[in-house]
Amino acid sequence: MTPENHNLFTALRAAFPADLDSTAIETADTATPLHYSWRDLDCGSAMMANLIDALELPPASRVAVQVDKSVEALMLYLAVLRAGHVFLPLNTAYQAAEIAYFIGNAEPALVVCAGKNFGWVSKLAFQAGTKNVFTLNDDRTGTLLQRAAHHSTQHAPAERSADDLAAILYTSGTTGRSKGAMLTHGNLLSNARVLRDAWGWQTAADGGDVLIHALPIFHVHGLFVASHGALINGSKMIWFSRFEPRAVAARLPEATVFMGVPTLYVRLLAEPGFGKEACSRMRLFVSGSAPLLLETFHEFRTRTGHTLLERYGMSETVMLTSNPYRPESARRGGTVGPALPGVGVRVHGDNGQPLPAGKIGHIEVRGPNVFKGYWKMPEKTAAEFTADGWFKTGDVGQISADGGVTIVGRSKDLIITGGYNVYPAEIEGFINDMPGVAESAVVGVPHPDFGEAVVAVVVPKAGATLNGADIAARLKGRIANFKVPKLVEVAPDLPRNAMGKVQKSLLRERHQGLFAR
Ligand code: AMP
Repeated sequence: MTPENHNLFTALRAAFPADLDSTAIETADTATPLHYSWRDLDCGSAMMANLIDALELPPASRVAVQVDKSVEALMLYLAVLRAGHVFLPLNTAYQAAEIAYFIGNAEPALVVCAGKNFGWVSKLAFQAGTKNVFTLNDDRTGTLLQRAAHHSTQHAPAERSADDLAAILYTSGTTGRSKGAMLTHGNLLSNARVLRDAWGWQTAADGGDVLIHALPIFHVHGLFVASHGALINGSKMIWFSRFEPRAVAARLPEATVFMGVPTLYVRLLAEPGFGKEACSRMRLFVSGSAPLLLETFHEFRTRTGHTLLERYGMSETVMLTSNPYRPESARRGGTVGPALPGVGVRVHGDNGQPLPAGKIGHIEVRGPNVFKGYWKMPEKTAAEFTADGWFKTGDVGQISADGGVTIVGRSKDLIITGGYNVYPAEIEGFINDMPGVAESAVVGVPHPDFGEAVVAVVVPKAGATLNGADIAARLKGRIANFKVPKLVEVAPDLPRNAMGKVQKSLLRERHQGLFAR
């Protein structure tokens, strides 16, 4: 008996529907709609995998990819899996200094970039010793496709064990250098299977799901949670290269599943026509990657009749917890639900001691989904795992008696003022409840007497006028004085990254000299 091939592609391919000529992906924002069949995904990724094989790269080579979102880019991901190499997606927003760091650090044997960036990317890559640089554009042009066109549409996936690397995701790294999280075929497959069951994905035989895919595919949410979800279930995707709320709302009546970061839901709700009618066939709306405002959670339910399902995960671990799929009424806003099957989640104190239910502390996790470590950073990897093998997520939160997890923030965002701990999420919650407030972010900045001082940045709702001193005055008496911000800045918006995460480091920088003597 031949041993089982644990190459993730093999499992995804096995889930393709019997009718390979049915539509796997339909593009929604190309000049004309393009229909890619399951056979197209299979053959297209085979041709690219054969091209990669022909390059005779060393085993487990990194393939760094910075291209605009396209179906061909997804095929390239599948091709890298098939060929047994390591996919390394890069945010399209990264500029030369960042790309130079990633290429220098990961030493990819192959780099694929947008044609318009070939000049500077190839220069950086060749300087770093990379021998192969191809281009791929979002209009199906570029040297990758030209070269792949000469290769066979048949390809046997490389034999891989569950422990072999499939991808490296560089963490967004708001402090210090970004770290490459090494994910294995086993990490990704176990999580894809767990989510398929936990979220009730329906195969074609059960009526079939249709996913609207409007997330970037350089990040865990769009690449793994969304794409794997549809692929391992043989479900069709309606493919948006970028999120545009009106266009997405117009296609929702054809869909059953949508996944978004919280800002996408805020933007959908800002569309006047968006409501129950658009969501009539919808089965599941998933939210994650950043905290969801309670107001968005409630407004979404009122407007659409659907309850957002919040889940929690990260690049290093894929998905960790999820609110229940059924009953929908059990989903609680502002919480991320219990651990997914097979995943362990616990909360420990500053000294590593276990904390009882309801106590806030450091969230630690383990399971088949937890990554292998940080690329070329053994000391950092060792420091992020406990002696008994749990990964320290860097998130702070609590677990209720029924196992539900609530995140209160990143540990590095925790504020210590005059020796007291302040959890930004608590104060943000009070501020967000005030009339006229759209959202807020609370950070700590250096203070000569207190160590750190609490500062809030508050965004007004459209048409509302806010006064920072009034907000601070209203907080007095409602929360302990040490938690009341020493400054409340009213600003038109909060700085966010591509995944909708508020970049608190930028706010800290903005205000760091505020209390300098
Ligand atoms: P990333 O590796 O870019 O996916 O970022 C992971 C981090 O995003 C986690 O460690 C959390 O801090 C945050 N995060 C992910 N999902 C949620 C969620 N549902 N609510 C709040 N924070 C989240």
